[in-house]
Amino acid sequence: MKPHKKKPRQRNRPRNKANRLKNLEIPDESINEEITETTIKAEETDDDDSLPELIDETNDSLNNRDQSSSGYKAFENLENVLKQNIQKLSRKEEILKDELKAVSDDQFRDSALQNTEISTEPNNQQNVFIHNLQQQMESMMANGSEDLPQTIMENLKKMLNQAPISDVETSDEEDEFIEYIYKPRKYFLISLCNLCKCDLCGRTGMVQCSRCKLSYYCSKGHMRSDIEHRQLCFALKQVADSSGEHIFYKCSNFTSEQFRSYRIITIRNVEAVINRPLTATEQELILFGRLCCNVKCREYRFEKLINCNNCGMVSYCRENPQHLPNDHEKWCKAFQLFKQLIIHQEKFGRLEPQLPKKILKDLPVNCCKTKDIYKKLNINLTENSCEYAALTQLSTVPLTSWYTLKLCDQLRDNQELTIHLIGAEIDFEVDILHKWELFFLHITPTLRRLNVVFVGPELNACNISFDQLKKTKCCRFCRKNKRTVSYYFAANIYHEYCRTVDFLKPHLICFFNAGLYRSTGYKMEDTWPETILTASQLKVPVVVTAYTEYEMPLDLSRFLQESNRHLNVILPPHLNPFASVKPERNFISDDEVPLMFKNYYCFVVE
Ligand SMILES: [Zn+2]
Ligand SMILES: [Zn+2]
Ligand SMILES: [Zn+2]
Ligand SMILES: [Zn+2]
Ligand SMILES: [Zn+2]
Repeated sequence: MKPHKKKPRQRNRPRNKANRLKNLEIPDESINEEITETTIKAEETDDDDSLPELIDETNDSLNNRDQSSSGYKAFENLENVLKQNIQKLSRKEEILKDELKAVSDDQFRDSALQNTEISTEPNNQQNVFIHNLQQQMESMMANGSEDLPQTIMENLKKMLNQAPISDVETSDEEDEFIEYIYKPRKYFLISLCNLCKCDLCGRTGMVQCSRCKLSYYCSKGHMRSDIEHRQLCFALKQVADSSGEHIFYKCSNFTSEQFRSYRIITIRNVEAVINRPLTATEQELILFGRLCCNVKCREYRFEKLINCNNCGMVSYCRENPQHLPNDHEKWCKAFQLFKQLIIHQEKFGRLEPQLPKKILKDLPVNCCKTKDIYKKLNINLTENSCEYAALTQLSTVPLTSWYTLKLCDQLRDNQELTIHLIGAEIDFEVDILHKWELFFLHITPTLRRLNVVFVGPELNACNISFDQLKKTKCCRFCRKNKRTVSYYFAANIYHEYCRTVDFLKPHLICFFNAGLYRSTGYKMEDTWPETILTASQLKVPVVVTAYTEYEMPLDLSRFLQESNRHLNVILPPHLNPFASVKPERNFISDDEVPLMFKNYYCFVVE
């Protein structure tokens, strides 16, 4: 990865179909992870409205895979049929495109001439046009249309007649890039009907699955209709029968550590019965089941339990209300937010918060928490709202980096900054790449060039085209002012990356939610010692974050121990003022805290 030179872009490049197809080819390892996807996005195009449709189609097939009980074969079949169809279609498309070119060059030439700026850009109108056409073809295909060429030609005529040629100004913004958008998977919650996902909190008549006694419904009817649950249900029942009357029978004597191990072993036992790995959603029936939350009790019998009135997410003994811990009140709001986010995802798909457009002229020196920066950027969201939480999940990555560099006084006059993100995850650090522009470049006025280097062996688990991601461009304002954000990707272990020719010297090294204290890293090998050593030898500020307060001192002592020189602790373990407030359920230290947040705690050393 050399300092990039802008390659001349291909004219008339259709939206990259190949990349979207990769959605369907999920590698097996990803089954237990959150399902992800690439979508193609053109900035501020008129056809944005039509994009979600496409995404939904893909989602549906993915969701089917996630949920289906006997659905694996069916899914694979569907996948094959789709792939074949798309291959056929691509060939037809090639022919069609040639025909199209002849027509559309004329159609669009006039508009292109109106703006000299656009003449150096690919023909965006045409790309939009081809994209629309492609969408139509795909939706026809999805509807099982047989007479593709005919219908397409007819539609083509129609579309040519109505082809919009206006607003050339914005065309400049329509250049294509592939944006990686993390797609949330389905979740199991004891307070949502496992079929219709309605909120069971405060409702009467909640029923449990009469066989496995682990999934919950709004009615007996929905229990019977939950066909997708069936395969898992039989397996759960079989495992329950071999261990007693219920999966959680006899769990009351376990320590927290034993109970964690017990649930992992149970998952493995169920997988042995079902003869396939459980999806993340299926695992959650066992990981986050309905039990009395008093760790000395762990009552599991349905009739003996009631749920918290406000969040519905924790249960305790009906006859012993004191089994609801006193500190639940502290977590109840976060539980409610967690549930609201899941309900939102079930209904409308991933929550896409509105992104800020403002570019600051002065460094916001007095901004020392998320809320301050949001105010500067004219973001008016209610705290505790789903949208606010979703936005903090995005902004925490650039803002925590920014905050560290501000602490180290690196933001005042540096014109170029390079940030290394170690152990980066495609669905966190890389998700919505231009957040780096919006929440870093736009708030650092003297900065002209920001280089963001993502390093991690698991970075490319989803076969995403890094070359496409790298094309993510800054807004027109930044381009005019020659300010850039460049993205680099190294699917390596950090110390290996540092030895390559692509190495860019960093100003800041970030370990976000890395779990340095754990010795089971990538491929169960502990690669942290060498990575920490390499990072500390670069003699630049290092920020480390963790999901929980409890992990942070452990990470710090590991870091100090593995580096071979004296390090200054610039910021001791501390609540990160730019943390995400989007809750996630905690399993690894569930006796410490029930929910956790990305970048919650941090420390900085140099
Ligand atoms: Zn229901
Ligand atoms: Zn069941
Ligand atoms: Zn209890
Ligand atoms: Zn509650
Ligand atoms: Zn910009």
